[in-house]
Amino acid sequence: MPRTETDPNGQESKAHILDYAQLPPSFFVRLAPTRFPEPTIYVLNDCFANILGLDPDWLCTSEGLRLLSGAATLDDTPPIAMAYAGHQFGHYAPLLGDGRAMLVGEGVDRSGRRYDLHLKGSGTTPFSRGADGRLTLGAAIREYVMSEAMAALNVPTTRSLAILTTGETILRDKAVPGAVLARTARSHVRIGTFQYAATSGELDPLKALADFSIDRLYPEIESDGVQRYQDFLSAVAKAQGRLIAKWMSLGFIHGVMNTDNASIAGETIDYGPCAFMDVFHPAKVFSSIDRRGRYAWNRQAEIGQWNMGQLAQSLLPLLGDSEEAQIEAAQAALSRYVSTFQLAFHSQMANKLGVDPQHKDLSSFIAETFAAMAKGGIDFTSFFTALTRSVANRSDAIILEVFQSPSMAETWLEMWHQMRSNDPRDDQYRVEAMRRTNPVRIPRNHQVERAVQDGENGKPQTMIALLAAVKNSYAEDPAFAAYEQPPKPHEIITQTFCGT
Ligand code: AMP
Ligand code: MG
Repeated sequence: MPRTETDPNGQESKAHILDYAQLPPSFFVRLAPTRFPEPTIYVLNDCFANILGLDPDWLCTSEGLRLLSGAATLDDTPPIAMAYAGHQFGHYAPLLGDGRAMLVGEGVDRSGRRYDLHLKGSGTTPFSRGADGRLTLGAAIREYVMSEAMAALNVPTTRSLAILTTGETILRDKAVPGAVLARTARSHVRIGTFQYAATSGELDPLKALADFSIDRLYPEIESDGVQRYQDFLSAVAKAQGRLIAKWMSLGFIHGVMNTDNASIAGETIDYGPCAFMDVFHPAKVFSSIDRRGRYAWNRQAEIGQWNMGQLAQSLLPLLGDSEEAQIEAAQAALSRYVSTFQLAFHSQMANKLGVDPQHKDLSSFIAETFAAMAKGGIDFTSFFTALTRSVANRSDAIILEVFQSPSMAETWLEMWHQMRSNDPRDDQYRVEAMRRTNPVRIPRNHQVERAVQDGENGKPQTMIALLAAVKNSYAEDPAFAAYEQPPKPHEIITQTFCGT
């Protein structure tokens, strides 16, 4: 065992008892442990291991390697693959499940919070549907970098604990190294897990899953009966609304917002073809498989609502004693999602822009700003960083630089000054709010791509350097100035691939 944990009250914790396995057996399949030819640590997140209460030195021992590669579990019971369904690009698949992943335990972190320890790329499962159950090292690097960057940006997310190379070569469009990503989540239950539960038509499993999710993720819910499940749906709606507002305010595009990739905890999960925008365009899409732009930047709020609609639909039988009451409760939760998203998005945008969140013209000013950014072909992150610097230094010059057209700059600046003219808050307060919401550095696509390419060629240093640059993403740091730079024309990445 890595370490015996005690909870904050000094009690011996139940750290290694798998809660999820207490659910009815239809929710999971027990797997055999995996054996890879040569599991080797490629990168280990020491700091995060400490937060989790796992000793980083122990993780590097042969016993630790067995845990991180799926040969052993935290509680010495067989690992499990979770069953779930999902709407993929709008089409319903009644049975997806972990086709290349396994849950190897649940732990309790240093703050007393329970987490799942989950391995991606750990081999085939009964849900693999003919695929190889493997993960490429490149895809593991991508997820590790993006998820750790999101955590640094204070966006709720799964976290990455380690990448192991397996010693296998796997075949994609060419032969590439295979890897296992060890990641954590507050829970891996997804909207798709509820869809799966609802498909059976039985009430007990659905209730068990909802109770499990409430106990794990929303323990503050104390109500009973139908109110308990209404409160649960509403809590998920709020978590999803807040999450998607954060994504959008950072120019983040998830890329695969299928219901099996929508977490009940409201964490960002499943980093495939996701990307941060460089030049702003509202309908921006990166994913090569998103041909119709279903998951474009400006559709994410609406898709979040659509996904919540699927969760509400799945929970209907628990939401009321009559059909009318059920539908009313479902609609109330969807409205809650919309209002939470709008409030969070507007307040974040107000902070980013350095204007009063209560300003009556805020909505139209946000729209005007995005229109100007799109028209001017302006880099998303650089634009907001320039605003922070402009207010901090009391100078408009830096903003004139980000606009290529002086007349567009003048027009926008005039609106901006107007918006700020009656702001009751002082500049210091305003700048602090801007600094907290405008990252100086994000993992830009060309940097991520370089980290992936180099990493697959045996050079993890590029990835390590990028991680260091995005670790304190909101702080000015001249040492990382190169990472602020938008791509040069030949570096621009226009498409991302699942690269699974
Ligand atoms: P994702 O696109 O990663 O969200 O995965 C969607 C579904 O496809 C999940 O059920 C995965 O487990 C499954 N899947 C993706 N890649 C593989 C693979 N290489 N082998 C087996 N299953 C996979
Ligand atoms: Mg997925």
